[in-house]
Amino acid sequence: MTDLAKRIADLSPEQRALLTQRLREKRDGVRPAAIAPREDRETWPLSFAQQRLWFLQQWDPESAAYTIPAAIRLVGSLDAAAVRAALADIVRRHGVLRMRLGTVRGEPVQTVVPEQDLALPVVDLRDRPPAERRAEAERLAQEEARRPFDLKQGPPVRATLLALAEDEHVVLFTLHHIVADGWSVGVLLREFAAGYAAALTGQPSPLPPLPLQYADYAAWQRAWLAGEEGERQLGYWRERLAGVPPVLELPADRARPAVMSYAGAHESFVVPAELVRGMRALGEAEGATPFMTWLAAFQALLARYAGRDDVVVGTPVANRSRSEIEGLIGLFVNTLVLRTDLADAAGFRDAIGRARETAVGAFAHPDLPFEMLVDELAPGRDLSHPPLFQVMFDYQGAPLGGLSLPGVRAEVLETETATAKVDLLLMLVDEGGDRLRGVWEYNTDLFDRDRMARLTQLFLTLVRGLVAEPERPLGEVPWLPTDERRRVVEEWNRTAAPPSPHRTMAEAFAAQAARTPDAPAIAAGAGTLTYGELERRANQLAHALRKKGVGPGTLVGLRVDRSVELAVGVVGIWKAGGAYVPIDPAYPAERQRFVLEDSQASVLVTLERLEGEGIEVDALCLDRDRPSLEAETATPLPVTAGPDDPAYVIYTSGSTGRPKGVAIRHRSALNLADALAREIYAPLEAQGAPLRVSLNAPLAFDASVQQLTALLRGHTLQVVPHEVRLDARGLLAWVRERQVDVLDCVPSQLSQLVAAGLFDGPAPAALIPGGEAIDDALWGVLAAAPATESYNVYGPTECTVDATLARVKAWPAAPTIGRPLANVRAYVVDRFGGPSPIGVPGELHLGGAGVGIGYVGRPELTAEVFVPDPFGDDAAARLYRTGDVVRWRSDGALEFLGRADAQVKLRGFRIELGEIEAGLTAHPGVGEAVVALREDTPGDTRLVGYLVPAEDWATPNVTELRQHLLATLPEYMVPSMFVTLADLPRMPNGKVDRRA
Ligand code: AMP
Ligand code: MG
Repeated sequence: MTDLAKRIADLSPEQRALLTQRLREKRDGVRPAAIAPREDRETWPLSFAQQRLWFLQQWDPESAAYTIPAAIRLVGSLDAAAVRAALADIVRRHGVLRMRLGTVRGEPVQTVVPEQDLALPVVDLRDRPPAERRAEAERLAQEEARRPFDLKQGPPVRATLLALAEDEHVVLFTLHHIVADGWSVGVLLREFAAGYAAALTGQPSPLPPLPLQYADYAAWQRAWLAGEEGERQLGYWRERLAGVPPVLELPADRARPAVMSYAGAHESFVVPAELVRGMRALGEAEGATPFMTWLAAFQALLARYAGRDDVVVGTPVANRSRSEIEGLIGLFVNTLVLRTDLADAAGFRDAIGRARETAVGAFAHPDLPFEMLVDELAPGRDLSHPPLFQVMFDYQGAPLGGLSLPGVRAEVLETETATAKVDLLLMLVDEGGDRLRGVWEYNTDLFDRDRMARLTQLFLTLVRGLVAEPERPLGEVPWLPTDERRRVVEEWNRTAAPPSPHRTMAEAFAAQAARTPDAPAIAAGAGTLTYGELERRANQLAHALRKKGVGPGTLVGLRVDRSVELAVGVVGIWKAGGAYVPIDPAYPAERQRFVLEDSQASVLVTLERLEGEGIEVDALCLDRDRPSLEAETATPLPVTAGPDDPAYVIYTSGSTGRPKGVAIRHRSALNLADALAREIYAPLEAQGAPLRVSLNAPLAFDASVQQLTALLRGHTLQVVPHEVRLDARGLLAWVRERQVDVLDCVPSQLSQLVAAGLFDGPAPAALIPGGEAIDDALWGVLAAAPATESYNVYGPTECTVDATLARVKAWPAAPTIGRPLANVRAYVVDRFGGPSPIGVPGELHLGGAGVGIGYVGRPELTAEVFVPDPFGDDAAARLYRTGDVVRWRSDGALEFLGRADAQVKLRGFRIELGEIEAGLTAHPGVGEAVVALREDTPGDTRLVGYLVPAEDWATPNVTELRQHLLATLPEYMVPSMFVTLADLPRMPNGKVDRRA
């Protein structure tokens, strides 16, 4: 780098802005209009920045967010009279400190009162125990910093003198931001020092008179920006910020309140010297200032943290580039918006280049007041977040040097103001040499302290990586500190437990039947089968199936009602070595046929008594064929299937319009059985077996598999009758009558049960809600239920029903899906494939014993979501990408946040909206269609179809549409409402925007 380039690179952003401005003036041959000297007028306009503060003050007059505290500790013998004189002189010099706010015809104006005595109350702390004085001074400083101003009555400045000892004092200055900024504090302290020294010796003020007053600047700014200059600068920003997403939403600990408060806190850290040096060297090589280099690193951090490449931060500029205003106290500081798009950045060097370009452009357009930009680009403010940017970056040169007063040693104290102006501010303070200090100022509505501590470590780890590998794509640079990575990848996945002693579900059931042949295994209506009877009938069925060629890996359709025969079918198919494929007889015939054809099930186990037409496979009816089945031998078939053969195939909604069959191994089902036994059944069995376990979910949903595992423990399945399932009161009565100990249900059903009085009488000992998110209200009820343990189970069909579990009472504060089950591993993965930090959302990937075989007959779809496992050592191992967005809480529990795609849950039913859309567009009258889940009134969620009719379909007929869909889709997938539109809302890329 040339010497000149280096010198330019070393300039602060301010100095560079000044340089750019001077160069521009030279190029254009104009100096902007000089600021007019003082006129005699009674009222003055507010500057733009003042006007915004006036607005905020009106909005929230009690807020202390806009006070600027400055505290100095003075050690030595202090002359209070000289302090007073120095202060009086400052107030005399700076009219702005005597300003009062008023309005003229609704417009705010400032007047400047000619004289104003600034009181200097003295608080004597000398009679307190010495040990308490500092703390009390700190407390008073904070209290003072939080005390609001009355700007109409004035004054906008206060001072207090705290006497801690004969030779120790603290002066507290407090200014309203409407009359000052950070730079002003420097002016104030310098003038205070000079005035104090003069007053001590009785000299007049040594300070030269001020050329201008702040009010002159305010009047000048308004006039200047009303002209061409305002338009020119606005043009730049309008273009630069076009299409910027409205909010940079960072992962937070709490949801954003409807109206943001300015409650804040600070957290500081030190940047290790080798990183300071590394960054400096990189910046120099790229022709970037430390400001730009650190801006690039901070934006890289935000891109990772917020999961978004287009990163916008604000930065304050002192805006004192004209020499005539350098010495004024007043609000000059402006805020510039720094927008950088880091998409596809080749590496950190590239990011630095982009940040440099951002900064150079911004500092060349520094004058347009931020508030004008807000009016222009973000009118109609949303008060839940700061406008235009929510995150700020500030890189400061060395702080104020020591203040020197005759006979006293002075130091500036920091006061915790407990406020934050934006969501998050990173302030880097260059303390000279290789010393760089960082301070986070964060909004405590959103963030907790421990998140900030972790953010520090993420930032420093990231910077270390950026410096070490400046060419590496940003998303690949490691940013998790070693211990955090170990925690989320390894520690919270230490779930290893011994595998099941059995090879198949059939074998495990046979062992149980041998232990408790006389215990009831399943009860449905008036029918009951003991373990012995079920074993016998299942063996007979197995023999019959074997004659039809069923062996290991054979898929067998199972189309039964909610009678004891369902267990005969399931266990019998297992015993023949096959895997059952449940087919819900309530589904449209076309869908039933689809499942049989798609799975290529060659045999169907069913009941003659069920309606059903034209299902052309070799069917074995458990009722009609009972006589021939009874003629089969009841001795078990030799076991031929192994743990890796499929146990069942369950169909679930497919986004492209075709349902897909998920195949699950015996090994996985056995692992689920063991895990649930350990977590849920074992504690209850101590009180005496068998337990009465509900079978609520239909066989076509895998929650039923979870309940079927009770058959491996000697418990009794109580089949919930179909009509009872649909009505909360009926279900509650049934649960009581059957004395159900363990009840499975989806949360929406459970909420209704609770409303119907579940906990007003004897309730089941255990509830197993799962399948969809539980809301806060239900969670609270479950956590407080005295005699019932509730277990929130989470899992996709592809990973064997349940992958994680939370005992509600173990995490009573807020809903969680808990931790991975035994032999299951959970990874929260960011968009670059690496582990997400604690508290940062990512897509849940599941590994271990539960991971399914894949989708039957769909190798490509399978490969898309059953992906190689980058976290383990087994090259053949697969992780299932759930599409669920979750995050780790710092206590090691997983929090479910929602979906990353268009899959939804409606009363526990898993629905791909794309499947319904495909069904709709298959109708000749429909041109295009979008389906959405809408919750117009809380608790009433339903599917709504939006469609653009085809040209030759003048009057879309809702009844006809419903009939059309009902021919292929189950009832729960058919929208209850249709809206016709002229066109569908689209995103900039032309795709349909579902959210709109
Ligand atoms: P399914 O395959 O029908 O069990 O649906 C699996 C999906 O349901 C998951 O991917 C989640 O989106 C959702 N889900 C299941 N259990 C829960 C739960 N306990 N909390 C929140 N969402 C859940
Ligand atoms: Mg599930």
